[in-house]
Amino acid sequence: MKGCPLSCWWCHNPEGISPEQEIVTEIRKIGETEFTTQELAGKYYSARDILEILEKERIFIEHSHGGVTFSGGEPLMQTDFLLEALAACKSKGYHTAVDTSGYSSELNFRSVMPYTDLFLYDIKHPDESRHFEYTGVSNTLIISNLRMLLREGKNIFIRIPVIPGKNDDPESLEGMKKMFSELKCDNLKQISLLPFHRTGKAKYRKLHLHYRMEETAQPSVVRMKELKEFFEGTGIKVRIGA
Ligand code: SF4
Repeated sequence: MKGCPLSCWWCHNPEGISPEQEIVTEIRKIGETEFTTQELAGKYYSARDILEILEKERIFIEHSHGGVTFSGGEPLMQTDFLLEALAACKSKGYHTAVDTSGYSSELNFRSVMPYTDLFLYDIKHPDESRHFEYTGVSNTLIISNLRMLLREGKNIFIRIPVIPGKNDDPESLEGMKKMFSELKCDNLKQISLLPFHRTGKAKYRKLHLHYRMEETAQPSVVRMKELKEFFEGTGIKVRIGA
């Protein structure tokens, strides 16, 4: 879902940050000739459209024990629509998940909670000032919403984007580990470690945006395994990847 109140340096969906439809322009050169192509980022769907799409895929979804995940951007930027779509999906028996940055009002989270089976919940940095520097917002609301959802018994998968040089230093890692160890409970089901990658880089060029991660390399497989072992010290299941 398009629109996000954060602006993470490493975002690989920059076309998902603005809530508006956007024209994405690409200039390609073949020999001496330049070609310009344009495409529209963002399309309107109703809750009924979403159900129609799901119903066509129902057999596959049921066989794979899947469901529907609302992602973005930040789905809670469109809470009224999200609520309508989630309720429609639940009325048809689909498992529902919301992939969120956690940055929305407690009221918004409470309104979608009854129709959400699972929250995929991003935690990007334990330190407020560094969180603000890299994402444009404080982490206070994000952490308090996480605590509230866990208190209310909602199932949570934590997702940590592993960003070399930004949140993988010992102090940041220890800060996150301490937080998760304190929050550990039956409904905190998993920590997913998402290695940084640069697949979104070309999109920045197309949107005429500055890409701030030019110098950052993807973490190695060995490093990701080390981090997996590190976070397993919380007693929570950890996996690498989404
Ligand atoms: S929260 Fe996700 S979608 Fe929003 S800017 Fe950050 S990485 Fe991009």
